[in-house]
Parts: sequence; C-alpha cells; structure tokens
Amino acid sequence: MPELAELPGIESARIIPREEHSISRKDISPHALKVLSRLAASGFYGFLVGGGVRDLLLGEKPKDFDVATNATPEEVRQLFRNSRVIGRRFRIVHVRFGREIIEVTTFRGAPEKQLTVDEKSPRRSLKHVDAAQNEDGLMVRDNVYGQIDEDARRRDFTINALYYTTDGFKLLDFCNALSDLKTHQIRMIGDPQERYREDPVRMLRALRFSAKLGFEISDETAAPVESLSELLGGISPARLFDELIKLFSTGYSQSAYQLLRNSGLKHALLAPTFEALEHCQPEEARLLELAFSNTDARIALEKAVTPYFLFAALLWPPLRLSMRQADCGSLDSSTQFLRLASQTLAEQNQFTSIPKRISYACREIWELQGRLTTRTRQTVDATLNHPRFRAAYDFLLLREAAGEALGDSGEWWTVYQFGDDIQKQELIEGLPKTRRRRQRKRRPAGSNP
Ligand code: ATP
Ligand code: MG
Repeated sequence: MPELAELPGIESARIIPREEHSISRKDISPHALKVLSRLAASGFYGFLVGGGVRDLLLGEKPKDFDVATNATPEEVRQLFRNSRVIGRRFRIVHVRFGREIIEVTTFRGAPEKQLTVDEKSPRRSLKHVDAAQNEDGLMVRDNVYGQIDEDARRRDFTINALYYTTDGFKLLDFCNALSDLKTHQIRMIGDPQERYREDPVRMLRALRFSAKLGFEISDETAAPVESLSELLGGISPARLFDELIKLFSTGYSQSAYQLLRNSGLKHALLAPTFEALEHCQPEEARLLELAFSNTDARIALEKAVTPYFLFAALLWPPLRLSMRQADCGSLDSSTQFLRLASQTLAEQNQFTSIPKRISYACREIWELQGRLTTRTRQTVDATLNHPRFRAAYDFLLLREAAGEALGDSGEWWTVYQFGDDIQKQELIEGLPKTRRRRQRKRRPAGSNP
C-alpha cells in the first residue's frame, strides 16, 4: 500500500497507534484481511470501516466487515473475480467468499463540490460527479468520489466513521468518534437536520444503534426527529421493510420496540400496529412483548428467526381489532376471516412492503390458530403435518403465555407431539369425530323470524 502520510485528507485525522487501541488482527475476518491486502498489493489504500471497527472496539463480534478504498468500483471489480457491483443510490462492490460478503465502497466526497481534475495526478483529485438531491434535500444518488476525510464526513454517526489500517495497525479518527464511543453517544456527523433530510432512514438507524449498543442518542441528534418523522413517508416501502427487519431481528428487538414506541417514528413504520395498541386487549399487547423477548432469546442461542413469525406477531393487534369490529369470532378458513387477514397485511404493506411469501406464511400461522384450538379426530394429523405447524404452535404458546384462555391447547399439542403412544391415543379418544355444529340460539316463542 502506498504511504499513509501521502493519502489526501489524512492530515485532518487523529492517528491512534497500535498500542493505544484494542483492535486485534485475529478478530478480523480473514476474508476482509484478504481484500485489504490485495488492494494494498495493487497500489490502493484500503481500510476497515463502519460497524466492524466500532464493534471490535466495543469488544463485540461484528456482524459484517466493510472496507473503504480509493479504488473505484470498476477497479475493485477487476481485482476480485468473485465480486459484483450493486446499488444505484450508492454503488458498492460485493466481494463474495462462500457465505461471507465483504462490502467495498469507494471514498465518497461532498456532492456540492465542483469537479476538479488535477492533470498531473488524476487520482488525487478524483471527483467523478454523479450525485443528485430532490427538492426536499433527499439524496437520490450519491456517487461522488472523494478523499478519506470527506468520506468520513459523509457517514452517519461519529462511531460509524472510524478507519482501521493493517499498515501499521493504526486507527484513524476524523470526528472525535473515540470520545463518543467512550461516553456511549450516538452523534450525527454535521448538521442533524440536514443529514436527516438527505436520508430520513438515518432516524431509524439512530434508533437501531441505540437499541443495539445501549447508547444514548445525543440531544442535538435526537431533537429534529419528531418534526421530521414524516419524511419517512418518502422512502420506498421496500427499504423500510429492510430496516424493520434489521430493527427487530438482530437480537435487541425488545429495546428497539420500546425506543420506537416512545419516538415520533412509530406511525411512519408501523401505524396499524400502534393505532390498534391503543384499543386492544392487554393480552394482545403482551403477546407482542413476549414475541420480542422470545426472538431475542432465540438469537442469543444462534437459532433462526423468521420474518413471517415477526409479522404474525406485529400485526396481531390490528388483526384482532379488525375481527372484533367486524364481529368475526374465529381464526379459520372462512371467507370473512381470510378477507380481514389480507386487509391487515395490505394496510401494513403501505408502510413497509411485505414480500408475498412472508404475507402468505403469516396468514397461514393465523389461520392455523383455529385448527389448533378446535381439534377433531379427522383434522389433527393434517394440522400436525402442515408446513407451518411449528410456527403456528409456537404462536399458540405465545398467546397462552400472554394470558389468553385457550383451553390448554398448547399443552395438548405438546403432549401430542412429544408424548408416548398411549398418551396420544388418550388425547385422540377425547376428541369429537368431526367439528361440532354451532348451536343456534333459540328464538323466544312468538318472535318474528
Ligand atoms: P451493522 O452492525 O448493522 O452492520 P453498520 O454500522 O456496519 O452496522 P451498515 O448498514 O453495514 O451499518 O453500513 C456500514 C457503514 O456505512 C456505516 O457504519 C456508516 O458508516 C455507513 N452508512 C451506512 N448507511 C448510511 C447512511 N444511510 N448514511 C450515512 N452513512 C451510512
Ligand atoms: Mg455493517
């Protein structure tokens, strides 16, 4: 790699030598190290940046490793056969090693700067202008390349803007990030209001990092959120879906939920749920909280969590509310229930898109609730063999734990799955052969039909 001292922009960094920080090479993914060393061998600068550096300094295991470089996406693409360029708003190169992807981004510059080309040294002044903002200040494209110090200032929060180099194992701090890391602060780089306007998703990112790290959002960074929350309405439902999943399925959903509930962002992301929570039964709200603690516990044990289970829980309060309003008594395959279920999913779909396979599975979990609580000899085995049985059974256990009286149905299915043959036989004998017909209410004698 060329000399660090010659990297344009380096003069504004505080450089922390190896002895004064806690990052150790052995905690870095060998694939990320490979990317760094190949960039260096080809004459480029390459740094580990973002969440990877932040989490290593906090003694946590990073979720993934991101690399920032002065090589353009095309140059990176040529160095790694196993890579492809993705994204339009930000062009990024994904270098794939089996299941691990290392994201490589080219240093970004401030978009408002003019294109300057230094004839003698084009790379030093590399500013390929391809940025656009709409009239609200939203960045719709941001591919202006720049220097490392500018790249640091284009990042969202100070703690996400630390760079690590394997050349001398130094850490580079451009915005007093280490101090915020020590005092547990999430602080926006630059003017928070302006940076939220450029990309309103940063409001959700602040909340996510606060939940994940247990850090506080600094006062100036938190202040504009309430009044700008509506800007999230301009973000595509597909991007909001990704953010929602990140918020609730990475191991700290309980605290993310509490933070969201107390923020101005709740209606921008989950309006149907938060509106229903104001009118719902205590056990419906409780189910949501239990679903989050359950999810966090599963992730801590490295067990899989599925987005459709999360949506089944998140949309449970609005589903139940709409059922009460429509006087629909049971979760089953009746046309009325299926219509209400689809309607509930469609309403949320306006905020965060829900991929078809997820909404389909979510509806199956709800629909199976009826078959789990109203059992007949004829249907139990088909229910047990349903591909969504396990998720629906877990959901049933959650409902009972939340306080719904379901006639010990959870216990029934636990014994039916895991008990011995005699126990199962007894359970079957206790069931009606077919579903009992609902008793019609008798009309008082003499009343009109
Ligand atoms: P995680 O642990 O969730 O991966 P992360 O900080 O690595 O957290 P990423 O979404 O992987 O987050 O992004 C990598 C880095 O890119 C961030 O640390 C930040 O520096 C920068 N970044 C990502 N999204 C934005 C954004 N919307 N605005 C500004 N900078 C961003
Ligand atoms: Mg990351």
